[in-house]
Amino acid sequence: VFEALSRELAQWAMAGRQAQFWWRDDDAQFASPELDQILEISSNCKAPLSLAVIPHGVEDTLAAALVGLESVQVLQHGYSHENHAPADLRKMELGWHRPAEVICAQLRTGFDALRALFDEQFIPVMVPPWNRIDERIIEQLPDVGLRGLSTLGPRRSTLVAEVLHQVNVHVDIINWKQGRKFAGLEICEAQIIAHLSAKRNGQAPTDEPTGIMSHHRVHDMASDAFLQALFSYLGDHSAVSMLDAQQVF
Ligand SMILES: [Zn+2]
Repeated sequence: VFEALSRELAQWAMAGRQAQFWWRDDDAQFASPELDQILEISSNCKAPLSLAVIPHGVEDTLAAALVGLESVQVLQHGYSHENHAPADLRKMELGWHRPAEVICAQLRTGFDALRALFDEQFIPVMVPPWNRIDERIIEQLPDVGLRGLSTLGPRRSTLVAEVLHQVNVHVDIINWKQGRKFAGLEICEAQIIAHLSAKRNGQAPTDEPTGIMSHHRVHDMASDAFLQALFSYLGDHSAVSMLDAQQVF
């Protein structure tokens, strides 16, 4: 496995460069067998895990599950993960569909809840639900107490950099359109290589680590098996380093 990725990473090794990765898992709210699976993978592979937690309705069971896990950190995943966009538009919680004051007040409530529950494990970074957020909301995130932002794909806004440290994810291991199943080894590997080669060729920012996005609540066995294999492979590779949220942001 990972033959194509091995060839790409060989180029990094030859150039004496380290390929940096980070792992973001979204939608955590409570302890579950599905959560246990990714915590076990993180521990097995020594792969730091950045967990994007939905603050509204977050349960003590989640905090209990993370106690003492130094390589697991918490990011803020919106407030309640509710869609406020009209039915014919793409889903969005942090859009311009409600007054900014209402949105920011909710985000502040959520921020306080995560800080209270997770203390130092909470890294003040916003992961917008559905990876979408209006630029006018972004401008206000520092006032909420947030210092970072993470969405999906290439950074689009230059404005963001003036107010927040943005580090995205670049690999989605789920195929949402076909039954929320594992997207498949080839597709995931191709996404990883696309980002690495873009960085190597100067077509993507070199200061942004390659982000792997997972969603433990919908994982099938193939998804978890892939993550286990990937992080085990990356963990053993001399030209790779895995970063935790504190290092990324
Ligand atoms: Zn989500």
